[in-house]
Formats: sequence, C-alpha cells, structure tokens
Amino acid sequence: MRTIVIGAGVVGMATAYTLHREGHQVTVVDAGPGPGLVTSRANGAQLSYSFVAPLADPAVLPKLPAWLLGRDTPLRWRPRLDPAQWRWCLDFLRACTRAQSRATTRELLALGLYSRLCVHELVGREQPAFDFSSSGKLLVYQDPASYGRALAQMDYQASLGCEQRALDRQACLDLEPSLADIGASIAGAIYTPTEDAGDCLHLCGELERILRAAPGAVRFHFNTPVSALRTEHGRIVALATPGGDLQADHYVLAGGMGAQALARRIGLNLGIYPLKGYSLTYDLTPDSVAPVASISDIGRKVVYARLGQRLRVAGMVDIGAKDAAIDPRRVQSLQADVARFFPRLNPAGAPQAWAGLRPARPDGKPLIGATPWRNLWLNAGHGGLGFTLAAGSARMLADLMRGRRPAVDPGAFALSI
Ligand SMILES: Cc1cc2nc3c(=O)[nH]c(=O)nc-3n(C[C@H](O)[C@H](O)[C@H](O)COP(=O)(O)OP(=O)(O)OC[C@H]3O[C@@H](n4cnc5c(N)ncnc54)[C@H](O)[C@@H]3O)c2cc1C
Repeated sequence: MRTIVIGAGVVGMATAYTLHREGHQVTVVDAGPGPGLVTSRANGAQLSYSFVAPLADPAVLPKLPAWLLGRDTPLRWRPRLDPAQWRWCLDFLRACTRAQSRATTRELLALGLYSRLCVHELVGREQPAFDFSSSGKLLVYQDPASYGRALAQMDYQASLGCEQRALDRQACLDLEPSLADIGASIAGAIYTPTEDAGDCLHLCGELERILRAAPGAVRFHFNTPVSALRTEHGRIVALATPGGDLQADHYVLAGGMGAQALARRIGLNLGIYPLKGYSLTYDLTPDSVAPVASISDIGRKVVYARLGQRLRVAGMVDIGAKDAAIDPRRVQSLQADVARFFPRLNPAGAPQAWAGLRPARPDGKPLIGATPWRNLWLNAGHGGLGFTLAAGSARMLADLMRGRRPAVDPGAFALSI
C-alpha cells in the first residue's frame, strides 16, 4: 500500500515508523522544514502512561470562576466570539461527569499502558538517542484534600492494572531528595515507577534518521503545506500542495492542530481546539539541586522532567489563546513556580522559553481510525498526551488499516458522525 502521512509531529512520525514496518510504502508530508517542530517541539517530556485522567472531570466545575477571572491561575479561559470555542467548551462541560471521566480514564489507561509496551519495544530495537529515562513519576500534593481525592483515584486506577504507590512526606523525600526545600509543605505523594521521560523533538529527529536509512526508505516532503484533500466518489484522490498534487492509496491525517482545518473542508468536524501551554528548558550545572524522577506539582499543574543535563518544566492551560506567541507574564509565572519548588536549581543562565498549542478534544481522547472517506484515516487530537500515546496510537491505526483487531478497543477512539 502506498500511504501518505500528513504531519511529521510525534504522532505522524510514529505512524510513519509503524506503517513502514508493516510494509507500507510511506511518504510523510509536512508544512515545516523538519520533523517535530510544532507542538512536539518542547513539550513536558513526560511519557506518563498511567497519568491519563482527563481534564474534563466534575472536580473542575467549582474552579471555573477562578479560570475565568484569574490572571495567574495555571488554567485560564478567555471567552471569545468564536463559535468553535463555545462548541468545544459546551462539549467539555458535558464531559465533566463522574461516569464519563471514569470511562475516559479507563480507555486512555488501556492505550497508555499499550503505548508503554510499544515505546519500550521501539527503544530496545532502535536505541534512539532522545535522553530517554525510566525514573518513574512522582505526583506531589501540598493540599491534604486534593491528596485524599488522589488516593481514591489511585485505588480506581489500581483496579485497572495501574502500578502506583502512596508515599508519605518522608518516603517522598527519601525517593527525591531534591524536594527537601519544600518538604515541610508536602501532604503526600503518589509514585508510579513505570513512567518514562524523553525529548520528543529528538525522538522525531531520530525516527526520521531511522526511516531514511531503512530499506525501502520513507520519503519526506518538508516545506509542503497541504491546502486541501481532493475527494471523488467517497475517496481521497490527491493532496493539493504548492508543488502539485500528491497521490497514494491511503492517507493518514496526523496534522495535530492542522488536522481540524483540513478535515473541516471535507465536512468532518474533529472537535480539536488549541489549549496553549508553556515550557522552560534549563541547562543544569554541577551545583544544581534538580530532580531525577519526573515530578508533577499538582497544586500548580507544573511538570518537571530530567533530560540528561537539562531540566524541562511545563505547565499552563490557556483556553482561547489565538496562537503560540510567548506571553512574558506566563513565562515569569512558570519561573516563579520553579523557584518555589526548586530554589537551589542554580542553572547555567536563563531558561529557554517555548509555547505550544495542545490539539485537544473536549473529552480528552484522540481520534484513531477510519473516516467516512474510504481511504482517509485519522490519528489526531492527542491533547496533552501526544508524546505518551503516539507509539500505541500508531500501532492501533496500523492494525485497523490492515483489518486486524487492535490490542486496545478501537471503539473508544473512533470518530462519531
Ligand atoms: C506545554 C505542553 C506540554 C506538553 N507536555 C506533554 C507531555 O509531557 N507528555 C505528552 O505526552 N504530551 C505533552 N504535550 C502534548 C504533546 O506535545 C502533543 O499532544 C503532541 O506533540 C501532538 O503531536 P502531533 O504530532 O499530533 O502534532 P504536532 O507536533 O503539532 O505535529 C503536527 C504536524 O503536522 C503538520 N501540519 C499540520 N497541518 C498541515 C498541513 N495542512 N500540511 C502539512 N503539514 C501540516 C505541522 O507542521 C506539524 O509538524 C504537551 C503539550 C504542550 C503544549
């Protein structure tokens, strides 16, 4: 099968890698000059297969006024005269029920744990250089009530096969001594030993290198924006690009935020909306007191991941941001969070700041599978979990394209018309 993958972010690159191994003749098309340069560029670096509970949860409802009014809240919602925003927000609010949140957690957890297997196979087979580490993840709680709720969620996830441990303050500090400066304020922590971390941009680059060198090499068309999917008799017949039409037997739409606009033009609403976030990357020094495990500061919704001699910090969810421009006030706020959690970080100079748009669906689940167009497939809308879920999503899509039954129930990720 000749297959074109639209998008060279982590989801598109994982898809290209998996389809190539399946024997497809793969071409990757991307608007940018290389792989991983949009939302996959400097994300939180967490491969957090077990930390997948969706944002849409009844617990967010009392927080809405603060999101609407707050200046320095980790989550901010700026209402706009934009029907897409209102539709997304209404669907999001509809998904904020306990039953839906639990069902989504179960479905994402199944995909997350499957993705872990796929990531470990990939790492074992190809040995890609992307500062991969398996140091586990520590969720740190400073508010006792929120820790209590987290313990209930941990029990629920344990019933679904998730390996997590509750730690008291001392056990948390024994595991991660770099937290000593905030030790007195820790109410408790949850440790997941099975979580990994890595540099998503470097993984995309490594996948390109591997695919270019592989027998029957994958072809890459960079600097090639797709302006339309040309359709005829219920099929896609070509992709329109400035250099002319590109043709294949099958087409996979893995364009992150760009998937929404392309699908819209052929009458499909994928319900993908941007949730803007920020990251900082610090170069560490021998004097740095920095974590080894991945850390989540649950109160401020900030994540920390060690990437060799660098520390990646990410956070913020801005609903209603128009683009990925960097707002210096959000960067300062994130820097203040870092200074509070790790006051002895002692980095080498100022961090590198970045902002990106999570391609998010209201219920938090990506779309993986078929469309009403017979040879068009979806792998898009991974929100804040694209790095974590890319490998498993790609394998699931490859199974569906072959007519095989995937290891994870595909119904949960199918496009409903
Ligand atoms: C601050 C922040 C922190 C995050 N932290 C984490 C984390 O710790 N762990 C995690 O798992 N996830 C995290 N995420 C989410 C993760 O980064 C995304 O889910 C993931 O990068 C999405 O990958 P993608 O390939 O779908 O999209 P992208 O990386 O955006 O790639 C899409 C590609 O498609 C191309 N494209 C789009 N439209 C067209 C078109 N018309 N023609 C040609 N090419 C096109 C684009 O150029 C782009 O290269 C974070 C996101 C943010 C913003």
